[in-house]
Parts: sequence; C-alpha cells; structure tokens
Amino acid sequence: MGMKIVRIKARKAFNPTKIPGANYVVNQYVGCQHACLYCYAKFMCKWYKYEKWGRWVVIRENVAELVKRESVKGKVYMSSVSDPYQPIEKEIELTRRILENMNKRTKLGILTKSDSVLRDIDLFKEFKDIEVGLRKEY
Ligand code: SF4
Repeated sequence: MGMKIVRIKARKAFNPTKIPGANYVVNQYVGCQHACLYCYAKFMCKWYKYEKWGRWVVIRENVAELVKRESVKGKVYMSSVSDPYQPIEKEIELTRRILENMNKRTKLGILTKSDSVLRDIDLFKEFKDIEVGLRKEY
C-alpha cells in the first residue's frame, strides 16, 4: 500500500499548546511515516478522516514562509503530531527551511527518532536556546 501525501497551506506557523513545558507548537507535518504502534498522535486520523496511522502525511508546505514573519515569546515545541525528521523530510527539506527562516532567539525543543536530525546541526548551533533529543524506540 502506498503513502498518501497531501499538501496544504497553513494559516499560522505557531499555535498555542497545553503540552507540558511548551507554550507553542509548530507543526509542519501532520501524520508520520514512522507509524509507531503506541503513537500519541494517532488521534489525528479522526480529524483528517484518514484511516491507518503511518500511511499518510499532510505537508503544511508554507510554514517555512510563515515563520519569517511570525515570532512568539515562550517555548516552542516542534512537531507534536509527527516526527520532523521522518523519511519525507530528506526529500523536501521542509524542517530545514523552517529552521533556516526561524528567529534564532526562539526557544525551541525538537524530539525525533531519526538520525537524519544530524544533517541540521549547523542550524541548531545558531539558536540561542535549543534542546534537541534523539530517541531510538519504535
Ligand atoms: S515517530 Fe513519533 S510521531 Fe511518529 S509515529 Fe512514532 S511516536 Fe508518532
């Protein structure tokens, strides 16, 4: 079975969140190719009316542009309903473009399961306050 890829435009890059330790989320992807069985974000299937978690990804393709003109105070968590370094990121480099364009004073938290995160170390170094976690567990 193939992967369903849907491209949409987001209205905003940063949205308020109740996630502990964060004030905002930035979600460039919804849906995740890693398809972890225990994933806390599976509930998004219902919202997007797609069936099987791990078989679809919605790309909010303009988020890299939106972050140029939006900035927020407080802590931002990147990708609460996906993995910012899931396989498709290698192809389209949306996460990378967001990091390039984001105000480097943004307090940013990123968590991923993919070694691809290492590609962006050059950009992480430009941020004043950033936490990047790599957790290998599927
Ligand atoms: S990597 Fe994270 S977001 Fe992706 S399926 Fe696994 S738990 Fe969910």
